[in-house]
Amino acid sequence: MTLVLVSNRVARPKANEPINGGLAAALMPAVTASGAIWVGSSGKFVDGSDKREPFAEIEALGSGALATVDLPAAQYRGFYQGFANSVLWPVLHSRADLIRMNAGDYAAYCEINSIMARALVRFAKPDAMFWIHDYHYMTLAADLRRLGIGQPVGFFLHTPFPTRHTLVSLPHHRELVEAMLAYDLIGFQTDEDRANFAEYLVLELGLTMRGDAVLSERGTTRLATFPIGIDAAAFADRAARAINRAEVVRLRASLLGARLVIGVDRLDYSKGLDTRFRAFDLALRNNPGLKRTVRLLQIATLSRSEIGTYRQLQGELAALVGDINGRHAEVDWTPIRYLNRGYGQSILAGFFRTARVGLVTPLRDGMNLVAKEYVAAQDPADPGVLVLSQFAGAAKQLDAALQVNPHDIEAMARAISTAVAMPLDERHERWTAMMKVLETSSLTQWFATYVAALKATEAGARAHDRRSIAWPAFRRLQIEPAASPAY
Ligand code: ADP
Repeated sequence: MTLVLVSNRVARPKANEPINGGLAAALMPAVTASGAIWVGSSGKFVDGSDKREPFAEIEALGSGALATVDLPAAQYRGFYQGFANSVLWPVLHSRADLIRMNAGDYAAYCEINSIMARALVRFAKPDAMFWIHDYHYMTLAADLRRLGIGQPVGFFLHTPFPTRHTLVSLPHHRELVEAMLAYDLIGFQTDEDRANFAEYLVLELGLTMRGDAVLSERGTTRLATFPIGIDAAAFADRAARAINRAEVVRLRASLLGARLVIGVDRLDYSKGLDTRFRAFDLALRNNPGLKRTVRLLQIATLSRSEIGTYRQLQGELAALVGDINGRHAEVDWTPIRYLNRGYGQSILAGFFRTARVGLVTPLRDGMNLVAKEYVAAQDPADPGVLVLSQFAGAAKQLDAALQVNPHDIEAMARAISTAVAMPLDERHERWTAMMKVLETSSLTQWFATYVAALKATEAGARAHDRRSIAWPAFRRLQIEPAASPAY
């Protein structure tokens, strides 16, 4: 069996460089060990007038391989900054108010999907299976079917899937979801995401669920939940070894005995950084004993800065941190250290182990791997406390964390104070329970379970050959760059 993974970008393993995003963190070790081919954009762009088959460059990655495709510059902006990150991402995170769409963005999205499909044909050996990742490639399976590919094609959504009421604000929602029925298997992070998708199929498209499968004129699509995990033992090992790395030693020395509270996120409105800072501010105001004895280190890597909403957020957060520090700081103590940069996984693991409290408070998150990494990095003899948003996918599994509603700033401030002062017995009890969960839902297991479920759809695919279905072509509009893009 040849397994072909597809995502927007691929990642190469570099021990000292940051991994930006949960998808790369999850797929890289899986590809290295499984022998799969991982296909994504090369980051190099070509002239869109070139109608030849898109070229893929192939290199080894452990026992697997990376194949990168040059995509056309003309459509990539409307696809990536446009429809994927200024339309789909906000809706999937229940922020339809942040949709910014330009004419041509949807067409560009469909076009990139079909170009990627053409690039994949060369990998369609009779025993191949395709596993497509994330919201960039929702319509890819329909394109593959149109090209005559009958092999199993699965999809996994790393983000949340919103309620039907939110999804209907998505331009072209019906066409997109109908196209997704070309997948044999659609995987979600949580049961709630799966149930939201199923409800849309039933109430908006009038389809009937038969157990966990939906039958449509496009064939059978199975819906299932696969909560993504991490390699907890490897992360724990990395954290224990990183404790003597120069940056980690410097961080520890700089605390002067104060307790460290840590946050590590991509700078994104879904991560709830604003309410996190406000809660920390309130905790300091309500509990002056925390002054000088606690410090917050927030690492917020810039992401998608070419999009206006993200640039604006960056400015707002910098101003808010300045405000809070201005209010509470003393000549030799500053409450928040705010860094817009990334760190390699090893150093990050050492930082997590140094922190008494991990603040993971997204307003909405598919899973949130940082929550799991924080837990895995702790010293078993003196573990820290995870303060976790109830709206992170991880909250369903990590119910021993101190869970908070990130919109309730007062409750979050109380949780921070509680976490900082939590006695060892309780910290240990909560951490042991969470570690047990991490050990029983590893990344390897996530990968293997999904692949087995996709393989099991083969029988259904044989019974109902999707290639004989007339797939409607998506609307292909002329791409006209907007005079001043909305994003
Ligand atoms: P998302 O996929 O939305 O970015 P996740 O929490 O699921 O969120 O995954 C983030 C991944 O990227 C984690 O593996 C984390 O360690 C890494 N990461 C996030 N922010 C940083 C950072 N500032 N420096 C280094 N790695 C980071």
